[in-house]
Amino acid sequence: MTVTRFAPSPTGYLHVGNLRTALFNWLIARKAGGTFILRLDDTDPERSKQEYADAIQEDLEWLGLGWDRIEKQSARLDRYVAAADDLRARGRFYECFETPTELDLKRKKQLNMGRPPVYDRAALKLTEAEKDALRAERPGHWRFLLDQQRIEWQDGILGDISIDAASVSDPVLIRGDGQVLYTLASVVDDTDMGVTDVVRGSDHVTNTATQIQIIEALGGDVPAFAHHSLLTGPQGEPLSKRLGTLSLRDLRAQGVEPMALLSLMARLGSSDPVELRTSHQELIDGFDLSHFGAAPTKFDVEDLLPLTARYLHALPYSAVADEVAALGVPDALAERFWNMVRENVTTRGDMAGWWAILWQGADALVEPEDTEFVRIALAMLPDLPFDETTWAGWSGAVSAATGRKGKALFMPLRKALTGRARGPELAEFMPLMQAKPVVR
Ligand code: GLU
Repeated sequence: MTVTRFAPSPTGYLHVGNLRTALFNWLIARKAGGTFILRLDDTDPERSKQEYADAIQEDLEWLGLGWDRIEKQSARLDRYVAAADDLRARGRFYECFETPTELDLKRKKQLNMGRPPVYDRAALKLTEAEKDALRAERPGHWRFLLDQQRIEWQDGILGDISIDAASVSDPVLIRGDGQVLYTLASVVDDTDMGVTDVVRGSDHVTNTATQIQIIEALGGDVPAFAHHSLLTGPQGEPLSKRLGTLSLRDLRAQGVEPMALLSLMARLGSSDPVELRTSHQELIDGFDLSHFGAAPTKFDVEDLLPLTARYLHALPYSAVADEVAALGVPDALAERFWNMVRENVTTRGDMAGWWAILWQGADALVEPEDTEFVRIALAMLPDLPFDETTWAGWSGAVSAATGRKGKALFMPLRKALTGRARGPELAEFMPLMQAKPVVR
């Protein structure tokens, strides 16, 4: 059975980059009728916060990306310790004592000599007496002893990958303060939880190489790996610094619709066109991981608003009834209000502005050359309430009185009635007006 996981660290809010990872793993599980696990990678007690763990769940729920199981690494520390013991017993785990400064110095020397900055395994040569002496000074950290062969896998997006383990430092799996690091915890979880498919960002490619060896050393099954490209801004600039402002909650606050966001992210970076989807099932049916490419993927937050608008244009009244009622639109007008306004909003929030205009009367927008015309026209407005015939009757009478026709007639009337240059059909707008426009 297909088992995937999304494994964010609860050290911040989810952003569009994380969403790509979450969505791909969710889609793979749902397409295969498998299991999708939400795993909170919270082994770092200082940076992990409950507030973020809650926010991650809220954001995924907002998007309708439900999980079948939730796990948190902080509850599984004994499993990681047992795995570390196992690696030690197999001779694949060794204690090191270099300080960060010493390691830095080693790296600089290697780079100066034109060599790759790979850990030199000096700790392997320490005698027991030397280790005892070092332990008295500082706690040791633990590295996994890589088998220095080529590590190869067939990547679901990148194709055949081959990495020379000799070009990679033996990964530190347990820090001096005893904290188990992600590389080990992740491998133990993926193995214990029967994860079959892992999609994550291409910044994890080297991790994957070392993790494959750790999984094999622990006798686990290696999942199918795929690494998606990282997002860039519209000009190809790195997005990493801006991700803080592209959090899912910001997008939500800006009125972006979940289906608009999901529709974009399910296709961006693939050979398939971005199409607005209105249901999760359509997203699942239209998803194929093998259509995604390795090149960096350009993301433009501006693309989300037109998709959001198109989603809203097609939305039936029943889907917004509560929000329309919350604006104070009387029941008798609510459905007509939505049907009139839905093609004239970009986000749900825009509804409020239209209702305010209908309810309080627009601030008439009057071009200087139309001042006299608008004065005459507004003086001819019949008394409220208006109905379906008001527009035809009134605009006809204004035309007859002023001689204006076509755009010269309609545009100033529209601007006067709505305070805006664009909007709904006036024949539909007028019956909903609760107040006449105000000329200031
Ligand atoms: N917590 C890791 C991250 O957010 C998970 C990576 C993985 O998918 O293994 O980068």
